[in-house]
Amino acid sequence: MNPGTHEVFNQSTPFSDVNLLAGNPALADALRFNHPQLDLTALHAVGAETGSAAMQRHARLANAFPPQLRSHDRFGQRIDQVEFHPSYHHLLRAALRHRLHATPWTAGTGAHIERAAAFMLFTECEPSVLCPVSMTYAVMPALRANAAIHSAWAPGLASPRYDGRFLPHDRKTGLMMGMGMTEKQGGSDVRANTTRADHDGDDAWGRRYRISGHKWFLSAPMCDAFLILAQAAGGLSCFFLPRLLPDGTVNAIAIQRLKHKLGNHANASSEVEFAAAAAWLVGDQGRGVAQILAMGAITRLDCALGSAGLMRHALSLALHHAGQRQAFGRRLCEQPLMRNVLADLALESEAATALALRLARAVDRSENGDDADGHEAAIRRLLTPLAKFWICKRGSHFAQEAMECLGGNGYVEEQGEGVMARIYREMPLNSIWEGAGNIMALDLLRALRHADAAGALAHELAPLCASGSHLAARVHAALHDVDGGCDEAQARTLARRLALLLQAALLRQHATDAVFDAFTRSRIDAANDVFGLLPAGVDLAAIIARAAPQTVD
Ligand SMILES: Cc1cc2nc3c(=O)[nH]c(=O)nc-3n(C[C@H](O)[C@H](O)[C@H](O)COP(=O)(O)OP(=O)(O)OC[C@H]3O[C@@H](n4cnc5c(N)ncnc54)[C@H](O)[C@@H]3O)c2cc1C
Repeated sequence: MNPGTHEVFNQSTPFSDVNLLAGNPALADALRFNHPQLDLTALHAVGAETGSAAMQRHARLANAFPPQLRSHDRFGQRIDQVEFHPSYHHLLRAALRHRLHATPWTAGTGAHIERAAAFMLFTECEPSVLCPVSMTYAVMPALRANAAIHSAWAPGLASPRYDGRFLPHDRKTGLMMGMGMTEKQGGSDVRANTTRADHDGDDAWGRRYRISGHKWFLSAPMCDAFLILAQAAGGLSCFFLPRLLPDGTVNAIAIQRLKHKLGNHANASSEVEFAAAAAWLVGDQGRGVAQILAMGAITRLDCALGSAGLMRHALSLALHHAGQRQAFGRRLCEQPLMRNVLADLALESEAATALALRLARAVDRSENGDDADGHEAAIRRLLTPLAKFWICKRGSHFAQEAMECLGGNGYVEEQGEGVMARIYREMPLNSIWEGAGNIMALDLLRALRHADAAGALAHELAPLCASGSHLAARVHAALHDVDGGCDEAQARTLARRLALLLQAALLRQHATDAVFDAFTRSRIDAANDVFGLLPAGVDLAAIIARAAPQTVD
C-alpha cells in the first residue's frame, strides 16, 4: 500500500526462483531425442541455479556496472587491464563450475549435447558473460594444430576453476581464450587483414612471430590468450597470442578503448593494437582462415544455442506476466488473441531449441568418431550456417513481440531489473558476430555444394515426408531446388525454406501433435510474417500448457 495515494495491484510478480529446466518440457524432449541416455541431474542443478533470484541479481549487477578499462596507472604507466564488477566474476565462476567451456572435448559421447543444454539455461540468466566461455569452448579443435601449446594450455582451458587473476598461464588454476579477426577495414572479409606477422625465431612453442597492427573488435580482452589472424610471408595465418609471455612479462597488447555497445553490457569488447607482440604459429602458414574457422564454426553453434535460450526466457517472462495481469475483466492469458500470440511464440521457441540441439548432436557425433557414414559431419556443415542464420535472425523479432506482451513494463529497464529489455538489446548480437546473416546464407550455399549434402538433407527430412503427402511434396520441391543450385541473391530464401522444413521434421519427432500441426500450418503451409496469426483450429491451449505448465492454465 502506498499511503495516501493508491494501492499497487494488478502488477505481475518477478519470475524468480524457478528451475529453468523443470518448466521447459520442449528442452527436455529435445534432449531425450538427441541423447536418450542422458542423466538430467546435473542439468537440473544448472536450471535451479540459473533461475535463482541470487543469480538474477548477479546478472543485473554485472550489466548495471559494466567493465571499465584501466589503460594506465596513476603514474602514467600502461597497464591495459579491465576491471569487472564482482558479480561478473561470480557468474563466470558458476559457468565454469557447470563446465560450459572446454570440458566436452575430452568427456566422450554426449558431452557436447549436455553442455549445449547447460549453455542455453545459463544464457537465460546472463548471456554476455558467456562470450569468453564460448570462445574457450570453441578454441580447442583449432589449438590442436600446435601440439606444444595445446598440451601446455588444454588442461587449464578445461579446468572447471575460474581464475580471473592477471598471471602467467602456469600459475593459474583455470585459463580462458578469445579471438581476434575483425579489423577496421573488414570483418566478414578477413582477407583484408593488414596486421603483420614477422618471423622472430623458433622455441618450445614452435615458430614465434612479432605481430604488428590492430583489431577493431577483440572481446573479453582479459582472456589469457587469443587466436588471431595476421599476414605472414606465406599469407594470412593463425597465431596464438598470450596476454602474458611464458617468462611473466606482459605482451605488447595495448587496449585502446572499450566499445560502447547496444547491449551485451557485462562483457568487455575492446579495440586493441599490437606493437610487435609475441605470438606463435598455429597450423600452416597461409591457412589462417580455415584454421581460425575451426574455432568460428563452434562459436556459431553457441550463437544458435544462445538465441534459442534467450527466446525461451523471453517466452517464460511473457507467459508469466500474461498469467497474472488482468485486462478487460480477465487475465491476459485468457484473452483469445493474446493466446494466439503466446502460442505462436511458444512454437518459435520450441523450433529454435530443436534445431540448435540437433546441431549440437551433429557436433557431438562428428567429434567423437560416432559417425561411420559421415552423415553427422554433413549435417553439421549444413546446420551450422542454417541454425545460426535462422534462429538468430528470428531472435529480435521474437524479443519485440514477447516484450509487447508485457506492455509498457516490457520496455522499462529499471536499473537492469527489466530483463525483457536486456534480452531485446542482446538479441541482434548473435546474428551479427561470428558471421552476419548474409555470410551464413552464403556459407550454406558452399555447404550445399558438398557431394553428400543433398543425401544428408533428404535423410533428415524423411520423417516430415512420412507425415503427409503435401509435406512430402514441399520437401521434394526443396530438394529439387537444392539440386538445381541457387544464385547468391536467393541464398536467404533457400536458408529460410530449409530451416523451416528441418525444424518441422524435428518437431514431428519430439514435440507434441499440437505443436507440429500448428508449426506446419503457420510456417510451411503459410508464411506468417508477424506473430499471432495462427489459423483457426490450432490447439492454442495445448501449446500454451506445454510451454508454461506451472504458471499459465
Ligand atoms: C559486440 C561485438 C563483439 C565482437 N567481438 C569480436 C571478437 O571478439 N573478435 C572478432 O574478431 N570480432 C568480433 N566482433 C566482430 C564481428 O564478428 C564482425 O562485426 C562481423 O563479423 C561483421 O564484420 P564487419 O563488422 O566488418 O562487417 P562487414 O564485414 O562490413 O559486413 C557488413 C554487412 O555486409 C554483409 N556482407 C559482407 N560480405 C557480403 C557479401 N559477400 N554478400 C552479401 N553481404 C555481405 C554482412 O553480412 C553484413 O551484414 C564483434 C562484434 C560485436 C558487435
